[in-house]
Amino acid sequence: MIMRGYGLIHWIDLSKRSIRSEQVPDDLAWNFIGGKGLGAKILYDMTDERTNPLGPENPLIFAIGPFTGTAVPYSGKGTFVFKSPQTGILGESVIGGTLGAATRWVGTTALVIMNRADRPTYLVLSENGVELRDASHLWGKDIYETEEELKREHGRCSVASIGPAGENLVKFAAIGNEKWRQGGRTGGGAVMGSKKLKAIVVEYDKQEWDAHDPDGVRKYSAEEIVPRAKEELKSYFERGTPGIVELANLWGFFPSYYWSKGSVDGWENIAWDAIKREVFVHPRACFGCPTPCGRYSRVREGKYAGSEVELEYETIYSIGGLNAITDVKAIVWLNDRADRLGMDTITLGNVFGFAIEAYKRGKLD
Ligand code: SF4
Repeated sequence: MIMRGYGLIHWIDLSKRSIRSEQVPDDLAWNFIGGKGLGAKILYDMTDERTNPLGPENPLIFAIGPFTGTAVPYSGKGTFVFKSPQTGILGESVIGGTLGAATRWVGTTALVIMNRADRPTYLVLSENGVELRDASHLWGKDIYETEEELKREHGRCSVASIGPAGENLVKFAAIGNEKWRQGGRTGGGAVMGSKKLKAIVVEYDKQEWDAHDPDGVRKYSAEEIVPRAKEELKSYFERGTPGIVELANLWGFFPSYYWSKGSVDGWENIAWDAIKREVFVHPRACFGCPTPCGRYSRVREGKYAGSEVELEYETIYSIGGLNAITDVKAIVWLNDRADRLGMDTITLGNVFGFAIEAYKRGKLD
């Protein structure tokens, strides 16, 4: 029986520059439901313990689930799956923004990107299928520049790209989408860079999706799920994940001083009230999200002026708490640099903290 909501898998060989497309097989759809399941099964079949995460044999898979891109709340996600250069085992990195939803709207469920291009390349996905294009003019550009340029060239589209970190195989390189949404964890950006794949562009004209009862899905979501989510996640809705900073410090679970303490001196300067006063502009959400966790923030003046990010709790603790940085504008600036270069801020903050701790103990000059 065919599962509604699933479309095509595109098998893309970057070395041969060839593409084969097929409907998601029923057994995969039913037995490994969702982007994570589908991606993990494909990866399991294509790799083993000898697979080099940065070798051409490691596939980069992007997959979505049957709800993605529909009226179901929180359905804007997609998952990158690969063997991780950071851990050497299954790597998966969920990305918000619009990439997953746009993939659904053009009738695709998964991209399986294999081997390595001989020159910088980007991939264009649309209702017409997959096309590979030269990306020499984009290589070396940061994620914001790449996204802006590709949006100028392609019009209405979603762009996932890597920055210099991915190109240079930094093991915690991220894949960025809509500037401030990342598939950040476990090094998908490095796998993408190892394939000389600079970006994935999904061109879409309309936001259409198929379901057994589309109107029923819309009605149930709007009348039952969204009001409940807004009520039960009220604090989250009002303050986003940065709202956790105060609670975490008061209760003593805020990662601080490279994991040695549960609260950082001066935490009030990086908690929600300070963020709201100093840098907050407006909430920002992934496609289909009724309770945006992202707080779009911008430094308006001073030496960090112009830095802009979607500030999240995880970045505040990793760059801030672990390194005892309690200047919210400095955190926004470092976050902005990391997003542009394409680095996962959680690992980056840990790397800073580890280096500082090693230096303090005389292990690092
Ligand atoms: S905005 Fe935040 S809460 Fe909403 S879907 Fe995206 S990651 Fe999830």
